[in-house]
Amino acid sequence: MVMLTSCSSAGQNKTEKGPLNIVTTTSMITDMVKEIGGSAVNVNGLMGAGVDPHLYKASEGDVNKLFKADMVIYSGLHLEGKLVEVFENMEHQHIKMVAITDTIDRKLLISSALFASNYDPHVWFDISLWKAASAYVAQKLSTADPENRNLYNTNLNRFLSKLDSTEKVIREKISSLPSEKRILITAHDAFNYFGKAYGFEVLGLQGISTATEAGVKDVQNLANYIVEHKVKAIFVESSVPKRNIEALQEAVRSKGFDVVIGGTLFSDALGNPGTAEGTYSGMIIFNVNTIVDALKN
Ligand SMILES: [Zn+2]
Repeated sequence: MVMLTSCSSAGQNKTEKGPLNIVTTTSMITDMVKEIGGSAVNVNGLMGAGVDPHLYKASEGDVNKLFKADMVIYSGLHLEGKLVEVFENMEHQHIKMVAITDTIDRKLLISSALFASNYDPHVWFDISLWKAASAYVAQKLSTADPENRNLYNTNLNRFLSKLDSTEKVIREKISSLPSEKRILITAHDAFNYFGKAYGFEVLGLQGISTATEAGVKDVQNLANYIVEHKVKAIFVESSVPKRNIEALQEAVRSKGFDVVIGGTLFSDALGNPGTAEGTYSGMIIFNVNTIVDALKN
């Protein structure tokens, strides 16, 4: 007779029927895992709209969810900087931990000596890297739950085509903006991958993490740059307080130049569920439309 104890099944291959219980961190990852996992998974996302992953700390409720999960899928590269200890603890408990950036070739990552992981973690803004991460997630789901391998593969392929059409849409929109106007200035350094992939000069007021404050000198330097390059617009981010960008706008005005706030971009979190910006593809398209329309004039 074989005895199965359900309480010891965490982190091992699934032994019971029923959807895989998955906990995700950012809303971009939640969207991806729902797309690929479909009806075969239960996805519990920890971070909703407007939540900053750099500063996010696990509540007691989160820790309970995490320890009950069959698998935890997170970004890695120290994006979830305050969860690193909890995650290490979970690894010791043999819970299956998947950092989606593990699969990305280090040569494709942007180095950042000042940031804890030595790499910039905002990989979702390069669609090709998000495709690589999606394939990795499908592979991890298939290994944990081989019975649903076909479903994961079908869903993955559908998601990859959606990402291809998203990329086509944004490249077309960007092509309408003259290259000398492709300067993107936002609250923190979230858009380096975006700039590299789609040809924008990118400058953030705060560094890679929002945990470090922008200094007076940073504001003045950036204000000088805006005046010198006659940049039309700068952007707020939905997961970062807007006061820093407003201070930058003031500094530019005090130098006799007017820069507008071109809108709010989604950087480290998607928009509200049920809206177009509440999905990865919708968020990317919304950002690009906002950026291009504000910088065009
Ligand atoms: Zn960030």
